[in-house]
Amino acid sequence: MPVRVVLLGPPGAGKGTQAAKIKEKRDVAHISTGDILRDNVEKGTEIGLAAKSFMDSGRLVPDDVIIGMIRVRLSCDDATEGGFILDGFPRTTAQAEALDRLLDELSLHLDAALLLEISDDEVVRRLSNRRVCQSCGAIYNLVARQTKEEGACDACGGRVVQRDDDKEAVIRNRLMVYRERTSPLIAYYERKGLLFRVDGAKSGNAAMLLLESIGVM
Ligand code: AMP
Repeated sequence: MPVRVVLLGPPGAGKGTQAAKIKEKRDVAHISTGDILRDNVEKGTEIGLAAKSFMDSGRLVPDDVIIGMIRVRLSCDDATEGGFILDGFPRTTAQAEALDRLLDELSLHLDAALLLEISDDEVVRRLSNRRVCQSCGAIYNLVARQTKEEGACDACGGRVVQRDDDKEAVIRNRLMVYRERTSPLIAYYERKGLLFRVDGAKSGNAAMLLLESIGVM
C-alpha cells in the first residue's frame, strides 16, 4: 500500500530525519524541496540561480518556482505508484492548494499531514549544531550524532559541512517565516481531518510509529 504524507513543522523539527526513517521501512519517494533546490544551486541551473538569494537569507522561494518543481517530481512513476513523503512542501497556502489540484489530476489523495512540534529554543540549538553531507545529504549533529571521522560522512565519505542558512541569524528569520507563512497550514489540514501531531523532541522514528498506529503503514 503506497504511503502519501506531508511532513509539516518548523525548520529543524526533524522532517528530513523522520522521512529517512520512513523510507528505510517503505520504499517511497522522499521529496525534499530544500534538497532539490540545493542540488539546483550547486549545478547552477536556472532554478538554482533564481532560488539562491532567497535561500541564503531564509526567505521562501516564490510559489511558482516551487510548484513547477513539485509538479515534475510528483508526476514521476516512483511517486505516483510507490507513494511519497513531502518534506518541506507545502510551505504556503497557495502551495497546499496547488498540491490538492495536482493530486486531483493524478487521481491520488493524501493519507496524512504530520506536524512535528518543537520549541524555538530547541530549533536554534539543533540547527546551529546540525551538519550535513554535501554528497549524500546524510544529517549529523555536533552533540547528538557525530561523524566517526571529523568532517567525513559515515555513509559515503563525503564532506560534512554546516549549511549557510543554519547560522543563528538566518535560523531566527526562517522561524519567523515559518510562523507567518507556513503555520496556517496546520488549520488547513486540520479542517480536512488529515492533521496528526508528533512530538519532534522524541526519537527519529516517532513519525513512522504514528503512521503505523493510524494504519497508514
Ligand atoms: P529546507 O531544507 O526545507 O529547510 O529548505 C531550505 C530553504 O529552501 C528554505 O529556507 C527556503 O528558502 C527554500 N525552500 C524549501 N522548500 C520551500 C518551499 N516549499 N517553498 C519555498 N521555499 C522553499
